[in-house]
Order: sequence, then structure tokens, then C-alpha cells
Amino acid sequence: MYTAVRIRGEALDYQPKISLKSLWEVQSGRNFEMCARFGCDGKATLVSYVQVPNKNRDRYIVPLCESCNAKDMELFVNAYDLIKAK
Ligand SMILES: [Zn+2]
Repeated sequence: MYTAVRIRGEALDYQPKISLKSLWEVQSGRNFEMCARFGCDGKATLVSYVQVPNKNRDRYIVPLCESCNAKDMELFVNAYDLIKAK
């Protein structure tokens, strides 16, 4: 299942004690590996903050490759890869 998300560049207002990659791995229980964007089979190189439009203001972290992260628009990502940022 894929969900539309919008990339939000600004950082969270708290500082996680571990790296975002580690945070994503711990919370998802999986290895940080592939870009979550639908149709992209690139390797994830960074963690991006996203929001789900028309849902609420919750922010999520999701692994993306650099080129997908650079797109200033809505992306479809695997809902399985969306981890809620506290
Ligand atoms: Zn990608």
C-alpha cells in the first residue's frame, strides 16, 4: 500500500539521541536499505521528514534516495516504511 506524502524540510523541534537512520531501523525493526518511493529501486541514502496531506500534522521519517528527496512535491511511498516521528 502506498501513501502520498509531502516532504517537509525543517527539522523536528527535538534532537533525537541517535541518528535518524538508527532511529528508523530501531522503530521499524528493519535494515535501512531501499528508497521507499513507489517506482524507485535506488538505495536509500538519507532519512526525510514527511507529512501526509489532509491527514494531520504528524510528521514521519522515511528512507529516500537523494534524487527522490530533492523532488519538491508529493511522493508516493510505501506506507510500511513510514515511521512516526514523536
Ligand atoms: Zn528514490
